[in-house]
Amino acid sequence: MTYGELVTLGEQKLKEANINDSKIDAFLLFEHIFGISKSKYLLIKYDEIREELRDKLDEFDEKLQLRCLNIPLQHITGIQEFMGMDFVVNKNVLIPRQDTEILVENAVLTITEEIEKENPRLLDMCTGSGCIAISLTKICKLQNTIAVDYSNAALEVAKENNQKHSTQINFINSDLFTSLNGEMFDIIVSNPPYIRTEDIRELMPEVKDFEPMMALDGTSDGLEFYRKITKESKKHLNDGGFLLYEIGFDQGKDVKSIMKDNGFDNIEIIKDLSGLDRVVKGHKA
Ligand code: GLN
Repeated sequence: MTYGELVTLGEQKLKEANINDSKIDAFLLFEHIFGISKSKYLLIKYDEIREELRDKLDEFDEKLQLRCLNIPLQHITGIQEFMGMDFVVNKNVLIPRQDTEILVENAVLTITEEIEKENPRLLDMCTGSGCIAISLTKICKLQNTIAVDYSNAALEVAKENNQKHSTQINFINSDLFTSLNGEMFDIIVSNPPYIRTEDIRELMPEVKDFEPMMALDGTSDGLEFYRKITKESKKHLNDGGFLLYEIGFDQGKDVKSIMKDNGFDNIEIIKDLSGLDRVVKGHKA
């Protein structure tokens, strides 16, 4: 059998199990298990699979079976790339999304162009895997980052990523701000749970059956965390500080008015690459 035939076979198995992205996922599993990149694969596609790689065929098959059960690809490989960095993930954290890179990119701009301060202090609220805190801290060379989550299991993953990327972030278990008495920041970022409870059943099985509900469920109107975090953020932001959120595509107006009601100004709604509202940013006067 050739490498190309193997990948096509994988793709067919996933397709038969009605897996979206069967082509991409079959290749990504192949790449993960065989350690063969796309560019190398294109060159050897028509070659017979080398003898010493044959023992990997079983592993490929086993992992395809898992993917056929709708288990997210990233739970099988244990890795998701975000902002050009690899993050360890498991069932206890939300898998980093490309949409969330919009939040990080805008936070980078805010830190480099608007916060006129040496060593600004960053807080990442509801950090999950730590991908936002870690990528921002690395890109902006921050030295004072705190990241918070309510889930100890998520914090274990975040701490592993902290080590992996040699960042010295202080990961803290806290129910929102309760364990952050007196801590002040120049910028607060958050991708809180924001899916309306009744919309959860509409999500893909990969998400609703395998990702942590706690990271998704934003209560009945999806806005509870924005209300709580915005109210508390006022007390933890230095004057001139910024609050940036990831939001769902239809939450821009509501989150903007929550920020406005809490005294934030210069509130902006920022779109993602598909033209959908994705980030809300506010300034503490
Ligand atoms: N954007 C995520 C999704 O589509 C949800 C993230 C969140 O609730 N913070 O599933």
